Amino acid sequence: MAFTLAPLPYANNALEPHFDAMTMEIHHDRHHNAYVTNLNAAIAGTDLDNQSIEEILANISKASPAVRNNGGGHYNHDLFWNILAPQGVGGNLSGPLKEAIIAAFGSVDDFKAAFKTAATTRFGSGWAWLIAKEDGSVAVCSTPNQDNPLMDIAEVKGTPILGLDVWEHAYYLKFQNKRPDYVDTFWTVVNWNAVEARYAAAVKN
Ligand code: MN
Repeated sequence: MAFTLAPLPYANNALEPHFDAMTMEIHHDRHHNAYVTNLNAAIAGTDLDNQSIEEILANISKASPAVRNNGGGHYNHDLFWNILAPQGVGGNLSGPLKEAIIAAFGSVDDFKAAFKTAATTRFGSGWAWLIAKEDGSVAVCSTPNQDNPLMDIAEVKGTPILGLDVWEHAYYLKFQNKRPDYVDTFWTVVNWNAVEARYAAAVKN
């Protein structure tokens, strides 16, 4: 079963003026599309062909670099598009997830500071994550390239419920070299309703 590129769940310009339309278009239509195309080519005719993306990632140590890079790239971008929303649309952080964040970090501001550190200290390309553990606790981590915390090779494992792409292709047109400004702007367009739903599903499983 070939993987497919879902359309963005909003218009290319829906996150303006925070995330610009041209970056969203290129990022989704070209970068993410390439990960899907290359993933499908890498798994065609192999025993990975009938597996879910989660199953592939859980055993990624046995897969080729092409599957690791493009399988991670597909999963990570699919998550990313769906935890973003136009300003004012995605609700506010609340409920059990807010409680878990405060339990782990002391306050929401301390969580955002830890996340920003993870995002800005990731050298080169990669991702910053908020992950959930089965016991309901949460943690911040980062991964290089297109790796993620679902992979059996990850240093810190858990279910990603919030992720930020810190590849330059995600921010360079608008923010140039100012990755910290991109991270600060990110909070304006987070879809907390979607993140909370991911948290609830991760803990229930
Ligand atoms: Mn990207």
